[in-house]
Amino acid sequence: MSGILDGKRILISGVLMESSIAFHTARLAQEQGAEIILTAFPRPTLTERIAKKLPKPDDVKVIELDVSNDEHLARLEGLVREHLGDRLDGVVHSIGFAPQDALGGNFLNTPFESVATAMHVSAFSLKSLTTALLPLMTEGGSVVGLTFDAQFAWPQYDWMGPAKAALEATSRYMARDLGKDNIRCNLISAGPIGSMAAKSIPGFPELAAVWDERSPMSWDLSDPEPAGRGVVALLSDWFPKTTGEIIHVDGGLHAVGA
Ligand code: NAD
Repeated sequence: MSGILDGKRILISGVLMESSIAFHTARLAQEQGAEIILTAFPRPTLTERIAKKLPKPDDVKVIELDVSNDEHLARLEGLVREHLGDRLDGVVHSIGFAPQDALGGNFLNTPFESVATAMHVSAFSLKSLTTALLPLMTEGGSVVGLTFDAQFAWPQYDWMGPAKAALEATSRYMARDLGKDNIRCNLISAGPIGSMAAKSIPGFPELAAVWDERSPMSWDLSDPEPAGRGVVALLSDWFPKTTGEIIHVDGGLHAVGA
């Protein structure tokens, strides 16, 4: 059976738990014919354990990567060459982090140091991860990241909001600079999912409740598959001239005012 990612080689960051959007992306990518390599933070052993639950667990290599660590970024290209070969067709950025004092209704008191960490790990890293891998993307490709709609100020989300706004702008500038190499850069704007990242946001249920009240389509907090499907679609050849775009996988909430 043929899949929409047949023959593609894809690096996927952000597999931490089975609830990770990246885990479902990895699962769907394998089902659709891709060869994948995972990056892991904070410990490869955690990601290796979860990777055993993928459809083809024996085909998956895991590389340690803290996106705020320049040494990790510098050695990434060589490790990918070693494990996956000399060509990469896709990169999934599924990474977000903000310190506790940058979340949960503390917006006016958050120190810049915490804001800087959120920006570094959640936004700048889209650029640094991609440029670390550019020498391997010799035949064009697709970079896909995950955002949470940064057009609005949400309850509790605090400095992750400006970090996501920076991620969205970074994606557009990457699209501008990488289009000449036939590399697309797009984001999926997902509705709330009860992952580790979400659980670390104090008051996350309050944020998620917005979807119960306003989403045109019913929304399942425990189902990361729709977001994963969106990522896989953008990795495929079915969006050949789409770049700098943000596609909402949010049950349609972005489209309604009340
Ligand atoms: P998750 O906790 O499973 O994934 C977050 C990932 O970020 C983890 O794998 C973690 O290891 C990684 N990470 C954190 N700091 C890192 C660092 N310094 N270096 C490398 N990796 C690091 O949660 P998720 O919900 O699957 O999040 C994936 C992406 O989706 C994030 O960008 C998140 O902001 C975004 N997103 C999540 C939701 C949601 O409600 N869960 C909604 C929209 C967008």
